[in-house]
Amino acid sequence: MTHDIHIIGGGLAGSEAAWQLGRRGFKVRLSEMRGSGERTPAHHTDGLAELVCSNSFRSDDDEKNAVGLLHHEMRRCDSLIMAAATKAQVPAGSALAVDRDVFSAEVEARLAALPNVEIVRERVDTLPAAGATIVSTGPLTAEALAGSIGRATGAESLAFFDAIAPIVYRDTIDMDICWMASRWDKGDTKDYINCPMTRDQYLAFHQGLLDGEKTAFKEWEANTPYFDGCMPIEVMAERGVDTLRFGPMKPVGLDNPHWATPEHPNGRWPYAVVQLRQDNKLGTLWNMVGFQTKLKHAEQVRLFRTIPGLEKAEFARLGGLHRNTFLNSPVLLDRQLRLKSAPHVRFAGQITGCEGYVESAAVGLMSGLMAASELAGREWQAPPATTAMGALLSHITGDAEADSYQPMNVNFGLFPPLHDVRKKQRKEAYTVRAKQDIMGWLDSFAPAA
Ligand SMILES: Cc1cc2nc3c(=O)[nH]c(=O)nc-3n(C[C@H](O)[C@H](O)[C@H](O)COP(=O)(O)OP(=O)(O)OC[C@H]3O[C@@H](n4cnc5c(N)ncnc54)[C@H](O)[C@@H]3O)c2cc1C
Repeated sequence: MTHDIHIIGGGLAGSEAAWQLGRRGFKVRLSEMRGSGERTPAHHTDGLAELVCSNSFRSDDDEKNAVGLLHHEMRRCDSLIMAAATKAQVPAGSALAVDRDVFSAEVEARLAALPNVEIVRERVDTLPAAGATIVSTGPLTAEALAGSIGRATGAESLAFFDAIAPIVYRDTIDMDICWMASRWDKGDTKDYINCPMTRDQYLAFHQGLLDGEKTAFKEWEANTPYFDGCMPIEVMAERGVDTLRFGPMKPVGLDNPHWATPEHPNGRWPYAVVQLRQDNKLGTLWNMVGFQTKLKHAEQVRLFRTIPGLEKAEFARLGGLHRNTFLNSPVLLDRQLRLKSAPHVRFAGQITGCEGYVESAAVGLMSGLMAASELAGREWQAPPATTAMGALLSHITGDAEADSYQPMNVNFGLFPPLHDVRKKQRKEAYTVRAKQDIMGWLDSFAPAA
């Protein structure tokens, strides 16, 4: 069968993209290497859309939870992944958990039933030179293709590991304790939030890092490198009690105005500081500079809330270090997920720098709709940034800070803020607005099936 579009990678994103295109009548070639004698180090089966770890699509609460809202919007867009998840659902309280084998079989059966979708078990080693293409080969893209993508994008724009520092919601930082200043007080712009520590607080924090429970690397991740500038803080802490104080927690030049006295009207330097830098254009998310870590998530929350000013911090995401192939999308991709240097190639799924099963499938869904519009000669209009799909897409394709770009889950910090709504009611207000706006978008734009 000659095809209209070639989709490479039959995981969550590729299967969803194939569905959106196939049910609109486009001829799809879906290449999946598993089943041809190839596997990634994390997959165990040859089934499409295999869930490599947890069997959960996280919260299904679409009134107060951003990922639950994303479920809702995807269902409205006739998502294959959400339909298969519903069919394969197992009891898990307010979470949407599935029987992974039933789920994968359902995805495959529904795709196989579309006569214009051809599922081919083959490994693709180079980016096609021409023809509409979606690359959705995920965080463990096979080596030869990763090399081809690296050559097309510039090696420094394709990461093979994520080294994530925790990201905090700005409105949960206590500015009666913290203050804004430039990095180590150099330059005029006060771009950093500083959390001050006394000597006792620093020593207790240092001990907490040494004692904290860490996540082990998986066997196939054992050679994960510690690049300069992204060494886990607990590894730095092991090198000596002052290593952090002379590294990311250096307080030099940082007069804390909250500690001003008549003798020191500008304030005093703390013994150590934790600095946070803006992480998205909306200014709602701030990352803890130099705080990439392999501490267990619960341990991170407990320990980081001992930092002055972060006692009530809410985290949009916690730190981690994993093997993960992903693009610097804000730089490389246009607003339609196309490679700026080769616009016949679109990307989808985790390789774009979203994180998670649901997010990967959602980006697959949008890439399928974008391609369907393009093939039909229709102008594409993105879902509004006030929706979960639109907020995620905006983040990936331009709103994230390119310099610190790291994989991101959907969260309310990506949405245009509703400052006028009281904090307690904000989450519900985001979901009410999003549900209205997604329906408006579907009515007026979404390509008909
Ligand atoms: C070890 C690990 C555990 C994870 N655990 C979770 C979790 O518990 N919960 C969660 O929400 N997210 C988790 N993630 C993150 C992420 O959500 C998943 O990786 C998700 O499957 C990404 O979807 P995707 O469609 O982008 O990629 P995948 O689902 O990985 O799909 C990519 C597909 O492309 C195929 N492929 C790769 N290279 C080629 C090639 N050259 N030619 C043809 N086919 C190719 C692969 O075989 C695979 O089927 C995890 C990631 C990893 C690596």
